[in-house]
Amino acid sequence: MTAVIEPQDVLRTCDKCGAAMQHLADLPDTVRFDAARVFRCRTCNTVARVSLRGNNSS
Ligand SMILES: [Zn+2]
Repeated sequence: MTAVIEPQDVLRTCDKCGAAMQHLADLPDTVRFDAARVFRCRTCNTVARVSLRGNNSS
């Protein structure tokens, strides 16, 4: 039995202050950008994009 981590379960930690980041939005896969998840730090307002690619769900 292998634990599968779904992309929506992945939480992000702020690179600057180490606080837990808030999930802002999911961006769809487009021609110019891969699907990505956007997080914002509630402490220092840093915004991070995390690609949802590379996780082939079949
Ligand atoms: Zn922060």
